[in-house]
Amino acid sequence: MKFATKAIHAGQEPDPTTGAIMTPIYQTSTYVQESPGKHKGYAYARGKNPTRVALEKCIASLENAKHGLCFSSGMGASDAIIKLLRPGDEVIATDDLYGGSYRMFEKVFAPFGISFKYVDMGDAAGIAKHISAKTKMLWVETPTNPLMKVVDIAACAKIAKEKKIVLVVDNTFASPYLQNPLDLGADIVMHSVTKYLAGHSDVVMGATCTNNDSLQEQLAFIANSCGATPGPMDSFLVLRGIKTLHLRMERHCFNGRKVAEFLKSHPKIDKLYWPGFPTHPNHEVAKKQMKDFGGMISFTMKGNDMQEAFRAASSVKVFSLAESLGGVESLIGHPASMTHASIPKAEREKSGVVDSLLRLSVGIEDIDDLIADLKQALG
Ligand SMILES: *Cc1c(COP(=O)(O)O)cnc(C)c1O
Repeated sequence: MKFATKAIHAGQEPDPTTGAIMTPIYQTSTYVQESPGKHKGYAYARGKNPTRVALEKCIASLENAKHGLCFSSGMGASDAIIKLLRPGDEVIATDDLYGGSYRMFEKVFAPFGISFKYVDMGDAAGIAKHISAKTKMLWVETPTNPLMKVVDIAACAKIAKEKKIVLVVDNTFASPYLQNPLDLGADIVMHSVTKYLAGHSDVVMGATCTNNDSLQEQLAFIANSCGATPGPMDSFLVLRGIKTLHLRMERHCFNGRKVAEFLKSHPKIDKLYWPGFPTHPNHEVAKKQMKDFGGMISFTMKGNDMQEAFRAASSVKVFSLAESLGGVESLIGHPASMTHASIPKAEREKSGVVDSLLRLSVGIEDIDDLIADLKQALG
């Protein structure tokens, strides 16, 4: 089946008892057993719930994966992935990483003896020299947040295979519509389902996908043991959201391109980060591994003027000033004080997250209204 058909049908069968076309919200914590231990595959809802199972199959199908697992948030999914490791192990991660991932790595897992190294992966060939006997995992985010660097997934997969380490790709920014990391050789794909997959800013959820039976078994064990699994109502909302993923992504990409072109010629804007421009340093890689370039755009103001950035972020009327991304509504954010506030200033600025940087999640409203809004807000 092709993507659009899978988005609507994968994992979903009419309800066997009523024929309901929509997967029911199985709002239950437990399941009746025929005799002790004899049940229909469902014993307790932390481990398994039919609405969640339908969603896991749907997301797995969109990533061309054998297995999918849902978690109560993207961070819940990332937490489970890091718990595959043991004290003494090391992770090499993309340097401009989602702030929450950085915070979890450094504040939660580093004290347990897992170490993290942050490397510019814009040039994938440069990664190998950082790998030591301790390195057990490569953690790649692409496009990166918020600087829209694109990491060559196939090149990373080659290195990971050679060194026998696990390659994890946080595919949140691209969504499975734009990019399928497992097809390029990744071992695990992680999603903040909260963003494009759910798409309507009404649910927090995460997911992992893999083709590796052993990794799936370990992740499912961790999910059930540690308990960060989502409920059936949220699973239903995401199943519903995914039905329009392909249509939403088409419009996100169309609007994203128009907004990027508008910003490019704006006199107040200095640097513009969007992988669709041929001048973007990773444009060729983006073209190779992504279907289109998405609706995430970041930019800085001339003279790194933070006041200008604050004024613009506070003057929007159609865009909303908020954290998060990937919903139908357009958002603007100031990474240095919002999503990336937990990263020390020096560390942050080294990777380019300066004080005048603004990030847009371009939604699917009418493009004329979006451009007019940015025009008035930038002044
Ligand atoms: C939001 C986000 C996460 C965390 O997901 P939550 O659902 O908020 O827990 C991880 N990675 C990226 C790239 C994100 O944007």
